Order: sequence, then C-alpha cells, then structure tokens
Amino acid sequence: MGGPFAAEAKTILKKISALLKSGFYTLLPTCRDASRLQSEALDEHLSFSKRLGLSLHLLICKWCRRYGKQIRFLRDAAHEHPENLSDAVPQKLSNEARERIKRRLQAGE
Ligand SMILES: [Zn+2]
Repeated sequence: MGGPFAAEAKTILKKISALLKSGFYTLLPTCRDASRLQSEALDEHLSFSKRLGLSLHLLICKWCRRYGKQIRFLRDAAHEHPENLSDAVPQKLSNEARERIKRRLQAGE
C-alpha cells in the first residue's frame, strides 16, 4: 500500500469516523422526533436531512414503524370515508341534548 491515494483514503476515513461520532447521533432523531416527523410527512415534503434521520430511526425502531403504519392507516381511512368521520364527530348538539345537559347541571348531577 502507500502511494498518492493512501493519504487521501486515510483523511476520508477520519472524516467518516468523526461524522459517525458526532453527526450520526445528532442526525438520528429520538422516538418523539420520529413520530413528529412521520405526521409531518403526511402533510408536507420533508427535507433531505429530516427524511434521512427518520429512515435511519425507522431502520432500528419497530415501535415507530408501527406508529407510522397506524397514522397512515388513519389518514387513508379518513380520506376514503369522510362522511363517517363527520358522523362520528357531531358538529353541534341538538337542542334536546343541550336542554338535557343544562337540566342536569342545574340539578347538580
Ligand atoms: Zn422510535
């Protein structure tokens, strides 16, 4: 070995190991960050560094992979059946329901 490339290779290896020691861990998001990034990714396009960090995290974390599957499933279900979603969440109470709640509150129940 030796020659002109050896020194260069050594420098590159040094850079990579420095990157692994410092950069890699800052690049790797925590579970909290990863779940935030996954919901961000549903609405917008993530930057390269965010996507890289997230995919590194997902490689090693099955919990976040599972979480990602769940939120994508919920997103798709909400898209496919928007009518069920608005049925499940009443926009306002009926007059009857409002009166019933008022009476109970006044009765101190
Ligand atoms: Zn995780």
